Amino acid sequence: MIVARFATVDGLREVPTSSTGEGWAVPGGITLTGAELARRDRLRFAADRDAYTAAHLLVRACAADLLGVPVARVRLEQHCPRCGAAGHGRPSIAGEPGVFVSLSHTRGYVAAVAATAPCGIDVQTVAASIPRTAITGRERRWLDAQPDPLPAFTRLWVRKEALVKAGVADEPGAIEVLGASGPAERHGRFDVEEWAAPGSAKGSPAALGCVVSAPDRS
Ligand SMILES: [Zn+2]
Repeated sequence: MIVARFATVDGLREVPTSSTGEGWAVPGGITLTGAELARRDRLRFAADRDAYTAAHLLVRACAADLLGVPVARVRLEQHCPRCGAAGHGRPSIAGEPGVFVSLSHTRGYVAAVAATAPCGIDVQTVAASIPRTAITGRERRWLDAQPDPLPAFTRLWVRKEALVKAGVADEPGAIEVLGASGPAERHGRFDVEEWAAPGSAKGSPAALGCVVSAPDRS
């Protein structure tokens, strides 16, 4: 089972609000933990704080839908394996070792997934440049042949990030996500699903996302 959602930050708001964390369209009156609030409040820009809040609420909503419980019963935990802090790092649901969750936020867009098997999700606004180290030689040659390389690179990048979050590798550059004729729809045992936010008139998307999920172990 899997519950995945991509959304705009504005779409999750009940009413336009300040960055107090109130006014979000998530039922049950849930709030972020102290560690999450501390992490969020270190972000410099209101747009980034709002995206953080929206993603951390959305992942609770996805887990609640998956578990069939009120969202206020969902306790999100995060522990960073690198610095030891809470409020970022791989998320999990307290008391639910069989539930896998992942979340992502970028300015204006958020994504979250909860599933009964390993999963990962990512959303990014279209990249402004292509980092050399993150792609394989084959991916570089494919990108060079694309008429619009920045959205094409972003399609690869969200796949890599989602697969890293699902535990496939430690570094995005270590994963090749190109299939026979373009960005892959499978990676090993993982299903890969793409998402795109409509952009301006030219047809280029405003943001791209990807969710990867392993089949249920049953
Ligand atoms: Zn850390």
